[in-house]
Amino acid sequence: MFETLSRKPNDPLLALIGLFDADPRPDKIDLGVGVYRDEAGHSPIFRAVKAAEHLIYETQNTKSYVAPEGDQTFLDLLWSLVGGHTATIHASGVQTPGGSGALRLAADLIRGTGTGKIWLGQPSWPNHAGIFSGAGLPVETYPFFDVASQTILVDSMINALERAEPGDAVLLHACCHNPSGAVLTADDWCRITAMIAARGLTPLIDLAYQGFGAGLDEDVAALRSIISAVPEALIAVSCSKSFGLYRERTGAVFAVASLQSASETARSNLVAIARASYSMPPDHGAAIVKTILCSPELCRDWSEELESMRHRLLALRKSFADALAGRWSNAVAIGSQEGMFSILPLSQTEVLKLREKHGIYIPTSGRINVAGLKRNDVARVASAIKGAVS
Ligand code: PMP
Repeated sequence: MFETLSRKPNDPLLALIGLFDADPRPDKIDLGVGVYRDEAGHSPIFRAVKAAEHLIYETQNTKSYVAPEGDQTFLDLLWSLVGGHTATIHASGVQTPGGSGALRLAADLIRGTGTGKIWLGQPSWPNHAGIFSGAGLPVETYPFFDVASQTILVDSMINALERAEPGDAVLLHACCHNPSGAVLTADDWCRITAMIAARGLTPLIDLAYQGFGAGLDEDVAALRSIISAVPEALIAVSCSKSFGLYRERTGAVFAVASLQSASETARSNLVAIARASYSMPPDHGAAIVKTILCSPELCRDWSEELESMRHRLLALRKSFADALAGRWSNAVAIGSQEGMFSILPLSQTEVLKLREKHGIYIPTSGRINVAGLKRNDVARVASAIKGAVS
């Protein structure tokens, strides 16, 4: 059987981590991997997460299975954080192994309708295409971001989506676009929402960075307004970044509808897909999120720590944009983008030069994780980039 298979290439980002680890230079800089890093280059555990783990350790009295849909209290608390309290919207959720698990269940659900395709922005998180095509869902693309001019291509996006048909789904990033960091204006969101509603498309909203953009509520403002303007939507939530729970694989998918029966039917399908895929979700991360969101003190501490991470990113963006000024007229955009990522207009040769000559690791796409910078690295990285590109 195995002889009939062909060997798959390594994921390029994971391969870059291997190269970085093998580089003996002490001053090497990793701008590739997509995790939050503090000023010491460390991906920290939130204080509230540690405190919640202690509580769970003291009180948990079984490791028996959770239900295929996960823990309802976790889902209710997470939905309050994401969706707020909109009485006219019904949201039914399923706990998933990370945001990736949520996207995969959503993909399987859309595939199960037998008609829909998924429309993905270009560029998007590279694993989106893999997850959707892995579920056998036809993938179409719409233009989203132009790297050279650092602008969002809203007109082209809307033109491309004119070709989508009722029953198709459109993947949107709720905030902190990965990989561009580009921010849609309120007017852009209105235009996109109007066209999605008019054409009978279903938004699949990927929320993987709540709290890293403009703030916990601000980052879901567009999501909340879009779901109140369409009859149905799917939301994939990742707790990996917002709670720093990456390896605990924590997330949820919510089927949102104006009719309660519609959201419940969708959920029953998501549960059946989960049951047939991995049976039950992992519990530990969801138990941590539940413990934090249940406790006013832990919740306050968690949101304050998240807010300090957001401010660190904002300050780094500003100083990096200032340091790059003069190299690219559009470098200023990096200062006003949000979240962890931006894409630099670097050629493959320039990316290699930065890696070999300066020990600065950036994927060939040019996407950088701003959190991988330390304050003292900013000038060095900017001047290496200026040198590599000139
Ligand atoms: N969506 C986007 C846009 C992401 O960047 C990521 C993670 N990098 C995910 C979803 C998936 O996150 P998780 O690790 O929770 O599966």
